[in-house]
Amino acid sequence: MTIAAEELAPLLAEIAAEASGRFGEGRLHATIPRLAQVDPNQFGIAVATLDGGIAKAGAADVPFSIQSISKVFSLCLALDYLGEDLWERVGRNPSGLRFNSLTRIEQEQGRPMNPFVNPGALVVADCLVDRAATPIHTMIGLLRRLAHSNRVSCDYEVAKSELSMAFRNYAAAALLKEYGNLRGEPRAVVHAYTHFCAARMSCVELARAALPLANEGRDPVTGAQILPPGRSRRVNSLMLTCGLYDAAGDFAYRVGLPAKSGVGGGIMAIVPNRMAIAVWSPELDPLGNSVAGFAALERLARDADLSVF
Ligand code: GLU
Repeated sequence: MTIAAEELAPLLAEIAAEASGRFGEGRLHATIPRLAQVDPNQFGIAVATLDGGIAKAGAADVPFSIQSISKVFSLCLALDYLGEDLWERVGRNPSGLRFNSLTRIEQEQGRPMNPFVNPGALVVADCLVDRAATPIHTMIGLLRRLAHSNRVSCDYEVAKSELSMAFRNYAAAALLKEYGNLRGEPRAVVHAYTHFCAARMSCVELARAALPLANEGRDPVTGAQILPPGRSRRVNSLMLTCGLYDAAGDFAYRVGLPAKSGVGGGIMAIVPNRMAIAVWSPELDPLGNSVAGFAALERLARDADLSVF
């Protein structure tokens, strides 16, 4: 069933009003010092529909750090470069462990469980480092093109702040290198990965950027085929099974949409053949997902009947 963006506007306004009731329930991400300074009492939501319409509420135009949501876009770039060969280096199953865990690297002999845990995203970043002198420019260029916005940028302060504490990611990269699953130097790969995570976008920009994933890889606004046919289904399936840290099962049960979250408090969700949604609120639950964002998507999916199941 098609829903025009304007039909969703009243529901989004209600959801935004309800979200402020959840402020104080979660905590800001602490291991990136710069993110711990963000005003926690913020909430934004945007929906981009296939006809080019946008509905939004709250702080939907405020840019935030997309963090792990960037892993979806770096995966798309790596698949462009390597095609299915990428899967020789990265798996496609949930890890059942924290996203930054090192345990599985040894257990799986250097082949990370999936592209959305940090070790997997480091291998993906390595593919981009291999192809471009300044991979962050490739990434920001892609995000700007998809979002139709030149405001999308890398927050170098956030990247610097994370790099000052990125001991686990350096350790993961060193282990991956030892297993022969990184071509680049571990430091350069962590540097590129951290800068991808530091991309800054608003909910409106992120919802627009995600639209090709809801539209068989085509940008519905320009008609350009961004991803080859079939790719969006594959990427969406990985988001559904591995996109919400250890809460992917709970999210599939309560919301029923492929999605990817980040520790900046953003969640991007795809409603295949209908729309893309971005929501942001900085306070996180213990698994690393936005408290108000998760609740907002649950209500939106229920009231607008969006679940894929
Ligand atoms: N840059 C963060 C890290 O590597 C991303 C974490 C996330 O959003 O899941 O720890």
